[in-house]
Amino acid sequence: ASIDIIKEQCIGCKKCVGACPFGAIEIIGKKAEIKDNCTLCGVCVESCKFNAINFEFDVVENVDISNYEGIFVFAEQRYGKLKTVSLELIGKAKSLAQELNTSVTAVLLGHSIDNLSKELIAYGADKVLVMDAPWLNDFNDHVYGEVMVKLIKDYKPEIVLIGATSNGRSLAPHISSSLRTGLTADCTVLDIDKEERLLLQTRPAFGGNLMATIVCENHRPQMSTVRPKVFKPLEPDYSREGIINILPIPTPVERFVEKIKNIDNNETISLADADIIVSVGKGIGSAKNIQLAKDLADVLGGALGASRSVVDSGWIPYSQQIGQTGKTVAPKIYIACGISGAIQHIAGLADIETIVAINIDPDAPIFKVAHYGIVGDCREILPMLIKKIK
Ligand code: FAD
Ligand code: SF4
Ligand code: SF4
Repeated sequence: ASIDIIKEQCIGCKKCVGACPFGAIEIIGKKAEIKDNCTLCGVCVESCKFNAINFEFDVVENVDISNYEGIFVFAEQRYGKLKTVSLELIGKAKSLAQELNTSVTAVLLGHSIDNLSKELIAYGADKVLVMDAPWLNDFNDHVYGEVMVKLIKDYKPEIVLIGATSNGRSLAPHISSSLRTGLTADCTVLDIDKEERLLLQTRPAFGGNLMATIVCENHRPQMSTVRPKVFKPLEPDYSREGIINILPIPTPVERFVEKIKNIDNNETISLADADIIVSVGKGIGSAKNIQLAKDLADVLGGALGASRSVVDSGWIPYSQQIGQTGKTVAPKIYIACGISGAIQHIAGLADIETIVAINIDPDAPIFKVAHYGIVGDCREILPMLIKKIK
């Protein structure tokens, strides 16, 4: 596929900027421009009322879908620890597999990771494909993508599920575009149409105003990414038995190794695993003031999150954005500092026991979802809270 902006028709209305789930459109000189991180997902096309987005699909020949069977879950791990989302996906895959009368295979890539196979089986995988090599120690979407593509070609799973982590988000489109199949990003519901043996992939669309169910009828595998905390993992059962298949290292190894560049080690703060998140909105006033919220997060042993306005201002990286087009989080305590509480931000808050809001405006929408509210200037209240907690 290809995408370009027809400059003469673009009026710079920015609608497409909000629609792009990957933050891949920028307005420069009142005209939209597509950035390098565009995944060619095509989501932005409908948002433009001026037909200024020219999106061309490749013509892809249909495959014989009857050759494909089983569910693959990409078992993402970082330095020997499985990402919780992978366990959540195995649990979900298990119930989908029951509907299809098939099995769940976890694909585990990395180095010195043999101990994780049993954990994957305990959480519901029927089979684990393990590839263990030093050059798989650090995630790289090209290298991991090449390996996944080869495994999918060999094993022909009908469904592939990947966590929508920063690694998963770059891996999944690499695989789907190489295999010329469909990918639905950020699914919130997965179901099976038993009669047609299709995966029903549901995700928010059109700015979250409706839920769209997407099917991939003619190509295989059917691929989805799912955000962390959307599904719950099964209770682990360490007496469960499964097949562990140690895969041979593909040759020539050099072919893969030479692709190991730009290793992505950015994900230092794990919002997904944090019990307490202190999150900043535009009301924090400046990039410098974010340190106040960071100090509170540090005192509480929590992580720092942000609204999209703060990310768009360049005050904090995208990896910390919470909301519809950022991360979904489920800490026990969420402290929103200077965040208005827009619906797209609230969409990223799942199952939170206690929301505390600090906002100068007593009518701010955030107070409608907060359990505790402090009306006041967060730049004054944050130092007071830190002092008190210390
Ligand atoms: P503002 O709306 O500017 O609000 C600032 C708040 O701070 C106000 O309530 C104000 O009263 C308060 N304030 C001001 N000064 C102070 C002070 N000194 N002390 C305390 N409070 C103060 N947003 C997200 O967050 N995440 C997303 O993933 C996301 N995805 C989106 C997707 C789409 C398709 C669209 C259209 C929008 C999306 N947005 C998202 C943007 C969202 O609609 C809001 O614009 C955004 O959340 C607002 O951020 P904010 O609350 O920080 O800023
Ligand atoms: Fe241009 Fe269309 Fe984007 Fe508006 S929605 S900025 S007209 S490309
Ligand atoms: Fe963003 Fe997808 Fe449009 Fe690319 S095709 S600009 S990733 S919405």
